[in-house]
Amino acid sequence: MAPLEKRPFRIKNSRFHFLCPLCASERSLRYSPFLSSSLKFKLAVISLFLFFLTFPLLQERGFILPFLVFSLGFLINRALYKKEIPCPYCGFNALTYKKDVIKAKEEVKVFWQQEQNFNKTSNFVLEEERPLGN
Ligand SMILES: [Zn+2]
Repeated sequence: MAPLEKRPFRIKNSRFHFLCPLCASERSLRYSPFLSSSLKFKLAVISLFLFFLTFPLLQERGFILPFLVFSLGFLINRALYKKEIPCPYCGFNALTYKKDVIKAKEEVKVFWQQEQNFNKTSNFVLEEERPLGN
């Protein structure tokens, strides 16, 4: 695919729109590294529900539940955000690049090797099917 080519794949309710720094294709992220206000509200409702559900068991020790629910929600949101960061078109990972440039370069190299292997296998299947079609 050529750089700056429009991709048909769109993400619903995306928060960030940007161009990939390596292949310049359009990217968008659905998750933010921080908790949104709606997610905070949902986590508060969940922790309140769990607090009232476990009150007969835990009594006043149940006040720890909101901290557990919020930290779990933050960790899950962060994991989804980090999973979304690598470019699906070129394999560039900005988080890895920020920490270690050489490792990010190797990740892109591995991505393109996997793409070549995938293309080889798909070409092989197409060449096999061609004589049957004729
Ligand atoms: Zn890219």
